[in-house]
Amino acid sequence: GGSGATQSDLLRARMRLSLQEHLWGFYQTNVNIPAEEQATARRAALDICAELRVFLHAKLPDMPLREMYLSGSLYDDLQVVTADHAQLMVPLILEKNLWSSIPGEDTIMNVPGFWLVRRENLEYFPRNSSYWDRCMVGGYLSPKSVLEVFDKLVAGSINWPAIGSVLDYIIRPVVPSETLTLEVQYEKNRKLYVDFLPLLVMEDGTSLIAKPHRLAAERHENLWRQSFRVAETARLRALDQEDGGCRCACLKVAKAVCKLNPALNTLNASQLTNAILLLCEKEGDWTQEALADRFLQLLRSLVGHLEAGRLPCVLSPKVNLFCELTEPEVDELGYTLYCALSDPEGLLRT
Ligand code: GDP
Repeated sequence: GGSGATQSDLLRARMRLSLQEHLWGFYQTNVNIPAEEQATARRAALDICAELRVFLHAKLPDMPLREMYLSGSLYDDLQVVTADHAQLMVPLILEKNLWSSIPGEDTIMNVPGFWLVRRENLEYFPRNSSYWDRCMVGGYLSPKSVLEVFDKLVAGSINWPAIGSVLDYIIRPVVPSETLTLEVQYEKNRKLYVDFLPLLVMEDGTSLIAKPHRLAAERHENLWRQSFRVAETARLRALDQEDGGCRCACLKVAKAVCKLNPALNTLNASQLTNAILLLCEKEGDWTQEALADRFLQLLRSLVGHLEAGRLPCVLSPKVNLFCELTEPEVDELGYTLYCALSDPEGLLRT
């Protein structure tokens, strides 16, 4: 029959088949982290979290904090390549009547996905009525100033060598560091980086984290970043659970590819997660056999989003998850991914 498979159809089918095998092979050898390695890393992070809780309670009993906790891909089975980082979430308690949040789109910066936290009622509750007034800059709660409070504590007044020797780890604050990070050597060749991440949970449930805008302009300094991580990760996992799908595997492969290719380092987990969630709205087949097709589609969709300069956040479409990339970064990412479309296996060579 004239409509039979042509030579090139066959070739393409064979290429897809081998990409499929390569992706799962890559997943087994490069992406997935052995359970034992993950468990030891989690243990080390937990030990340090416990020490810090004791220290903060003793040293600063009146600092209004909720209990600190660990989070991140290490705890969601979404970490890739090496078990080497986690976030220590530090939830601040704010008095409801003294602080209010203003969405970034309603400010002169006009950045959806970022917020200002304004001090209210200063006339009735003067400065220092709230513990966190010490971190107020120009009438707003400054994430930078909050980080500095913890930086002084963590880098200045905690005896890390002493704590480290009790736990049998080598712990030291990483300097300089944007985000206040501890480096923990917990085995001879194993290091773990723990970021302090101060967090505000507003009355409507909005989570804001003290992670600066990447394009560190002075006018951005007071902005808190809205975090969608918990909800977007849960959504991805739920979709996989419904149909035994490969969305999380696809995400992990993509994360590993971005981690191992310097030209793709600027893409982060949230961007990749959202690109996959957007793809899920169009594409139903996420069976294990479809991994290669979906992976190629993910690359193609990223190229498209980069061309448009826009990747909407699934949970809040006005948020552009590419808004912190510079033009040269967009160009380099777009070019690298575009080239990868014709040689996807090149991405897997490490
Ligand atoms: P990975 O670091 O690429 O493995 O990805 P994660 O999913 O662990 O994301 C960690 C990054 O997301 C860090 O840079 C955090 O600053 C940021 N982030 C935003 N919101 C959250 C949150 O609620 N929890 C954690 N752990 N990280 C968050």
